[in-house]
Amino acid sequence: MTDTPPIDVLIGGGSYAGLALALALSHQSGGELSVTVAAPDFPSLDPSAGPVRATALSRASLAFLRHVELWEQKSPFAQPVASIELTDSDLGDVIRPPRLTYDLALSEAALPRMVILENRHLGAALHHAARAAPGVTLREGTAIAAFSSSPTNAVAVPGDGSKLTARLLVAADGGRSVIRAAANIPVHERPYDQSGIITIVELAHPHHGRAIQHFLPAGPFAVLPMTGNRICITWSESALEAKRITSLDAKAFRREIEVRLGHDFGPLQSLSPPQSWPLTFAVARTLISNRLALIGDAAHTVHPIAGQGLNLALRDVAALSDCIVDTARLGLDIGAMDTLQRYERWRRFDNLASATGFDALNRLFSLSSTLARSARTAALGIVDQLPGLKSLLIDEASGAIGDRPRLLR
Ligand SMILES: Cc1cc2nc3c(=O)[nH]c(=O)nc-3n(C[C@H](O)[C@H](O)[C@H](O)COP(=O)(O)OP(=O)(O)OC[C@H]3O[C@@H](n4cnc5c(N)ncnc54)[C@H](O)[C@@H]3O)c2cc1C
Repeated sequence: MTDTPPIDVLIGGGSYAGLALALALSHQSGGELSVTVAAPDFPSLDPSAGPVRATALSRASLAFLRHVELWEQKSPFAQPVASIELTDSDLGDVIRPPRLTYDLALSEAALPRMVILENRHLGAALHHAARAAPGVTLREGTAIAAFSSSPTNAVAVPGDGSKLTARLLVAADGGRSVIRAAANIPVHERPYDQSGIITIVELAHPHHGRAIQHFLPAGPFAVLPMTGNRICITWSESALEAKRITSLDAKAFRREIEVRLGHDFGPLQSLSPPQSWPLTFAVARTLISNRLALIGDAAHTVHPIAGQGLNLALRDVAALSDCIVDTARLGLDIGAMDTLQRYERWRRFDNLASATGFDALNRLFSLSSTLARSARTAALGIVDQLPGLKSLLIDEASGAIGDRPRLLR
């Protein structure tokens, strides 16, 4: 059975990257392009369902949400970050002086430079909006199992043996992308032997929008302020230690958190049970193949040290959407190599530089020798004294520099 006529864009993967691309294409083409999102499942439509996890979103990502008309709706659930402090400490250090501090002055007029938003709010909003978006069809319960291409079309085969034909297939099916593998795209991949652990803590005292990154020898320990006077703690440990920590009872787990958090945030009211993820570094050798483009974690899985995986995914989405819509407006073939090469040129360097940069940061801050510690302290101190360099770094993290796609402006 073949769906005819061919869909313009078939997106395999229905999480943040896949749904965001469907929305972007609908918005930028005014619903003229036919877009199908095929995925085994979509985020719950109920934002109060499922475990809590939060993500740091840069100003460029907020610009994206504003363009697709989700920001006004979601802003009450997004906690603006007022300041970021970086410390470089040992686990036993009682006082951890900040080596680098950023004040992210908040103004009513501009979008915040960074907010923390719960993933389930973002997922539910993208899902609701994609369901209502002109030109977009969602196919739930559809995992793409195989892919082939002809000079004119991409043909994706879901597990049920049917065929979906499109002018362009986009792989948004995550770090273990089946579509990428079906296209024989090689991946530079290395497990970190580290796991990410997340817990949500309710505080007794206000957090005032403070975010903190403690660089502990086992890996970075990030404290992200959330609405409702909560904080999201995301940190990495060796895989073995993460296993031990996540199997502790509630009382022992609280002690582990108190040791790492110190006294910065006052008494802790309650903690959610920890969730954990194995961490991997993976970058696809190319973002494109015949009639195929990769976005999001299917293209790059980065260390959460800088909280940038989803922000990078939205940069891919906005760039690919510009390339496709510009080509469609000229009446040209949206799945042709020229279109795809423009996308690859646009995103290749940023993706590679970000993935390898976060990897290098993780290695550098995991070195516990006195020499490494002194070098880091000196480097952070220098950045702290140079306002120009500091704002350049924060602009880079906000996605505010470089050749920005229209939806990120
Ligand atoms: C501990 C941790 C903390 C993080 N913190 C942050 C942060 O603060 N800020 C940030 O920007 N990023 C953060 N990230 C990264 C961010 O979560 C990911 O980059 C983001 O989820 C990637 O989205 P995606 O849509 O590309 O992939 P995914 O979210 O992995 O979604 C893949 C989708 O594809 C579907 N799928 C799978 N197989 C198939 C198939 N065969 N056919 C069709 N569909 C398929 C799945 O069902 C799923 O819907 C963090 C990650 C971790 C692990």
